[in-house]
Amino acid sequence: MSNFTSPKAATVSIFGSTGSIGRQALDVIRDSADPPQVHALSANSNFEALCVQIGEFRPKVVVVGSLAMAHQVSERFAWLECRVGAEGLSQSAGEAEIALNAVVGFAGLSVTMGAVRAGRRLALANKESLVAAGPVVRKAMENSRAEIVPVDSEHAAIHQCLRAGRVTEVERLILTSSGGPFRTMSIEALSKVTKADALRHPTWAMGPKITVDSSTLMNKALEIIEAVELFSVRPDQVEVVVHPESIVHSMVGFVDGSLLAQLSQPDMRLPIAYALGYPQRLAPAYGALDFAEELALHFEAPRREIFRGLDFAYGALEVGRGAPAWLNAINEVAVTNFLEDRINWGDIYPVIAESLELFMPVDLNSAQDVMDLDQIARVRCLEVIDKKFASPR
Ligand code: NDP
Ligand code: MG
Repeated sequence: MSNFTSPKAATVSIFGSTGSIGRQALDVIRDSADPPQVHALSANSNFEALCVQIGEFRPKVVVVGSLAMAHQVSERFAWLECRVGAEGLSQSAGEAEIALNAVVGFAGLSVTMGAVRAGRRLALANKESLVAAGPVVRKAMENSRAEIVPVDSEHAAIHQCLRAGRVTEVERLILTSSGGPFRTMSIEALSKVTKADALRHPTWAMGPKITVDSSTLMNKALEIIEAVELFSVRPDQVEVVVHPESIVHSMVGFVDGSLLAQLSQPDMRLPIAYALGYPQRLAPAYGALDFAEELALHFEAPRREIFRGLDFAYGALEVGRGAPAWLNAINEVAVTNFLEDRINWGDIYPVIAESLELFMPVDLNSAQDVMDLDQIARVRCLEVIDKKFASPR
């Protein structure tokens, strides 16, 4: 999704600045020889971390999750404009030249829509907003100068490989997956995994939601949908291959049989810097490979009968009419309930499968339609959990 390529940005806003991606984005800005000015920062509830960031980066605006926190922040920084919630995010996302969306989950929709409507560059880590609102985002982009540059490492890799050929020469996109912590585990062993096991990712250090999504491969499922939305390819052109080393971040296959890949050590600062600097490449180098050391790369097919999310994603793309938004919402509810110890890891797929059965197709014409559908899916999924998988709160 790219309507224009702008010269190097002078202003950038980091939404979700207190999270894993947000902090690494601030590292990139800190490391830059010619750093952009930070216009806005945002956090949901982490007051202390946000205050430290405000002190260092001196943004003009911050967005926080509650009025109470806004009062606290305003008391400490009287010169700062402090906004609250979804409205604050969407307004602020339209102000700087680049909005980096590092909010977790569906709450990131406000940032995505705010940036796209205002014709800004959206540096997109928050895949959930694009998965849920793909048709609405696409429509908003038609009449806008906005562009989306992916931060998600696989899509950043594909974005880079696509620069080597024409759109009509692309045959397939191959998303790599680490396989997560349970890649080789037997079905019997999988029934006993704990929250601590699921939160121990073999190659990446990330926030809890995406770490759990990586353990179920629902992260890859969301990324299949993300790839279809970002690169306007058919679902059957997107493949997934397990690559435990997380060195090859994804590949593009062209009609002549050539396969192009982007390689680096797993380091999210690289795709973050790429999305901030594009079309230029910014120093310093992150995650550069050293071939003085032995490097073995392995590839294998995912175990789709266990990690059913991949098939759910293709199914949702085929059905359309809100199915990806439904899948995203019920996954988010399942993960939250797993993190709150209400369901087991082994319950996540049964909860998703049962909640998928309750899907009712709708046409998504506006962000409000997406929010309404998301809300219904959440209620239905919670009913499934309460009825069958956990004792009601
Ligand atoms: P984290 O959980 O580490 O950080 C989430 C950020 O979002 C925090 O700043 C948090 O604020 C804020 N936040 C949480 N809930 C809300 C809400 N309801 N409204 C507004 N802000 C909120 O997540 P990650 O950094 O790991 O992931 C962020 C996004 O990037 C996700 O969509 C993920 O899929 C994607 N991504 C992440 C990668 C990674 O390596 N981490 C890799 C590729 C994609 P607070 O701190 O106050 O709670
Ligand atoms: Mg990814």
